[in-house]
Amino acid sequence: LNRRLDGLGTTIFAEMSALATATGSINLGQGFPDTDGPEEVREAAVRALREGRGNQYPPGPGVPELRTAISAHQRRRYGLDYDPDTEVLVTAGATEAIAAALLALLEPGDEVVALEPFYDSYSACIAMAGAVRVPLTLRAPDFRPDLDRLRSLVTPRTRLLLLNSPHNPTGLVLSPDELTAIAELAVERDLLVVTDEVYEHLVFEGAHHPIAALPGMRERTVSISSAGKTFSFTGWKVGWVTGTPELVAAVRTAKQYLTYVSAGPFQYAVAEALALPDSYFDGFRADLLHKRDLLADGLAAAGFRVFRPGGTYFVTTDITPLGEQDGIEFCRSLPERCGVVAIPNAVFYDDVDAGRPLVRFTFCKRVDVLEDAVDRLTRLR
Ligand code: PMP
Ligand code: GLN
Repeated sequence: LNRRLDGLGTTIFAEMSALATATGSINLGQGFPDTDGPEEVREAAVRALREGRGNQYPPGPGVPELRTAISAHQRRRYGLDYDPDTEVLVTAGATEAIAAALLALLEPGDEVVALEPFYDSYSACIAMAGAVRVPLTLRAPDFRPDLDRLRSLVTPRTRLLLLNSPHNPTGLVLSPDELTAIAELAVERDLLVVTDEVYEHLVFEGAHHPIAALPGMRERTVSISSAGKTFSFTGWKVGWVTGTPELVAAVRTAKQYLTYVSAGPFQYAVAEALALPDSYFDGFRADLLHKRDLLADGLAAAGFRVFRPGGTYFVTTDITPLGEQDGIEFCRSLPERCGVVAIPNAVFYDDVDAGRPLVRFTFCKRVDVLEDAVDRLTRLR
């Protein structure tokens, strides 16, 4: 393993999901739903397979049907216009989009300011690009970014801001004022912005605002999303990038040599999914909102301090009221103690103290599963 990958080992998601399987625990760790997405979208994938659409290498930028659907989605939801031919790129999930964007846009030694806790692939990809991560630490109880601190973190070596809203694992949704302040800073200091918006359809209060829509931002922003979360097909690994022709071409260059192209038949199905009526997206959000409250209330009753998220399908808790100090130890012992798996937020922090007592649970599970998990966690005390 080269030095850039020192300390990256096995992802916490692989470790905790393996622990869930080995112990037969309820897995509220890794974020994947236990119910698949819409039947008609699955049927669309089957049809594409049967009709031989996408069974051989699809076009490098993604199949035209999907690029057109992504472009239409950005226009319909946010009023953002992207040319499907030059300003949209299909990737192997948001994960590849993040990797390709960072590899394409960073020089060794460049600084990247990112919201800490970081989704785990950010620190790995920044390291693989030979760049340096500079954390803007989000702190309990509200995890709002300190914008003065953000300003002070930008140096002449800062190349880009890496954003994630709704934010995994805290559930923070950046407000319009925060986004405006961040955008103004990016324009003033001539920074690129890479924004991970995979939870764009899981905002429970207010609305999702893409930073690319703010003044001066379209030309400096690479926006990333994926079908995994929005349509409950995390195994399909269909993601995408939107941005200017120059930025998208740069990301495409890196993507070409990472995976060349992304799996074909699923792209046709996701094109149909993106065209689903608003009732699908509204229903999806309402279902997860109900589950958020079920799990958040259950965890609070079980003695956790709960930080109810504004978005995503994760709820972060503090385990201190249970007489516990260390989330990593807690998550390693939890399966044996009560048959539930969760994720310790500490692994997403450089500032280990800020994350030590925090533990994340996902609520993208069936109601009976969440109720069973809450019962088990209630018996902890
Ligand atoms: N970014 C964030 C913030 C995530 O939580 C995830 C997990 N879905 C990803 C990126 C990766 O997305 P995908 O599965 O589409 O690669
Ligand atoms: N995004 C998912 C989570 O945060 C996991 C994705 C993965 O396993 N890489 O739980």
